[in-house]
Amino acid sequence: MEEAGYRLVPFQQGADVYVINTCSVTDHADKKCRKVVRQAKKFRPDARVAIVGCYAQLKPKEIAEIDGVDLVLGAAEKFNLPQHLNNLTDTTETSVIAGPIDVVKDFLPAYSFQDRTRTFLKVQDGCDYQCAFCTIPLARGKSRSGTIEQVRRQAEDAAANGVKEIVLTGVNIGDFGRREGVLPEDRETFLQLIQTLDELKGIERFRISSIEPNLLSDDIIRFVAGSKRFVPHFHIPLQSGSDKILKAMGRRYKKDLYAHRIQLIRDLMPDAGIGVDVITGFPGESHADFLETYHFLQELDVSYLHVFTYSERPDTRAIKMADPVPGAVRQERTTQLISLSEKKKRAFYQKYSGTMRKVLLEAETDGIWMTGFTDNYIRVRTAFDPLLVNELAWCGLDELLPDTQFECQTPVPVSDESLILNNVSKSV
Ligand code: SF4
Repeated sequence: MEEAGYRLVPFQQGADVYVINTCSVTDHADKKCRKVVRQAKKFRPDARVAIVGCYAQLKPKEIAEIDGVDLVLGAAEKFNLPQHLNNLTDTTETSVIAGPIDVVKDFLPAYSFQDRTRTFLKVQDGCDYQCAFCTIPLARGKSRSGTIEQVRRQAEDAAANGVKEIVLTGVNIGDFGRREGVLPEDRETFLQLIQTLDELKGIERFRISSIEPNLLSDDIIRFVAGSKRFVPHFHIPLQSGSDKILKAMGRRYKKDLYAHRIQLIRDLMPDAGIGVDVITGFPGESHADFLETYHFLQELDVSYLHVFTYSERPDTRAIKMADPVPGAVRQERTTQLISLSEKKKRAFYQKYSGTMRKVLLEAETDGIWMTGFTDNYIRVRTAFDPLLVNELAWCGLDELLPDTQFECQTPVPVSDESLILNNVSKSV
C-alpha cells in the first residue's frame, strides 16, 4: 500500500480507505465487522471500506450485504488490494472478489511493522490438518511457505529497520517447507529454518509462536536449548488432556507425547515459559473427561493456559457430533481452567521474584509506564523512559503486582552492563 502512495493514519483521524481484517475464529465475526464498518464511516462518511481476512474468504456474500462495504477480498486477492481499490468506480455496488480456497497456493512472506520492538514474521500459511472444530483450513487453504532464503532476507530487512525481536508466526509453523511443486524429499524443514535464523546478526531474539506438539520435535527443542537467539518460550496447543477427546477432535498426538515434550523442555530449559491452549466443552466431553484434562494440566509443569470455550462453527465435523455439552457446563469448565491458569502463572512468576533478567522494553506507553517481556515471557513494567524504548535492559524483578506483572525500579540498559557488575561486587 505504501508503494502505491498510501500512508497509515490513526483510525479516528478519518482515512480515505479502511481495510478491515476479519477473523473466523472469533464469535460473531459478522456483528463485529458491521460495528467496525459503522465506526469507520462515522469518522469518514465517504471512506472506501475493504474487508479482508478469514471471514471474507468464508462468507463473502454475507459481508457484501453489510452497509457501507465497497470491497470484499478473499485469501488470494487481498494481496492485490491497491489494484482492486483503483478499479472501484462510484457505483454503489459492492465488489466481491473471493475465489475458492483450494486454488490459493501463493505465499507472501511478510512482517508487521507498527511497533519495531517486537515484530511478527509470517513464515507459513494454511493448514493440511483437519481438526474437527476448526474452520481455519477452509479460510486459509493448503499449507504453504516461502523458502528459508526468503524468510532470512525478510528477517535481515527487519533488522536493518531496527527490529530487535522477531516472533515467527504461521497457521501451522511446524509444517514449514511445503511449497507448490516441491517434492517431500526436497522440502526444507522448520528445524533448518531456525538453524539458519539463529546465525543472523542484528536480531537479538527470535520467539517461536504456537507450534503443534507432534511437530515440535525433540531435535527442535534441543536446538532451541543450545541456540544463540531463540528464547526459552513455547506455546503448544494441547486442546484436551483426554485421549478419547483428542481422537474425536482429530488431533495427531496423545497426551503422553505432550507430557514428554514438556518434560524434555523442562530438563533442558528449566526457566522456559510454556503456554498451553485448551478447549472446554467439546462434544462428548464428559465430566470424567474434563477432570482428566484438569488433573493432567494441574500436574504439568507449564506457565499459563489459554482457555477457549468450544463453540459450534458451520461446515466443521464437530458441529454434527453427538452429545453436545450444555453451554452453562462449558462455561463452568472454562472458569475452572482459567482459575488454574492464574495459579500456575503466579507460581511461575513467583519463582523469579528478586532475580534479574533481560527485558526488551517496548515503545507502547501510557506516558507513565513502559512494559516489556523477559526471554521466558515474564511481563515487566518500569517507569517510562524514552531512552529505553526498543532497548534490552537488565531488570530487577522487584515487586510482583496483583495483575501478575513485575515492577522494576531501576532498569540498566544491557550496553551499561558494567554498572550491574559494579553493584554486585559492592553488595558482595
Ligand atoms: S492444526 Fe490448527 S489450524 Fe490446523 S486444523 Fe488443527 S486447529 Fe486448525
